[in-house]
Amino acid sequence: MILPADALFRRQRDEHALRMHCEDCVLFDDVREQCAHGYPTEAHRRPPNDDAPITFCKDFEAL
Ligand code: SF4
Repeated sequence: MILPADALFRRQRDEHALRMHCEDCVLFDDVREQCAHGYPTEAHRRPPNDDAPITFCKDFEAL
C-alpha cells in the first residue's frame, strides 16, 4: 500500500511516533541491510525526506 505523506499524515506520524520502515522492523539486518525474509527493501527503507510517499510492507514487525 502506497500512501502520500501529506500534512495530516506527517502530523499524525509525529504525534503517535509511528514506525513503518525497515529500520524500525525486527526483520531488518542493519549490518547487511537486508530483510531476513528476503524481501526487497528499497521501497520500505526510511526515505531521506519527510514528505516522500510511504510504501507499507505487509510483513513489517515493530522492534
Ligand atoms: S519485513 Fe518488510 S519492513 Fe521488515 S525488513 Fe523486510 S521488507 Fe523491511
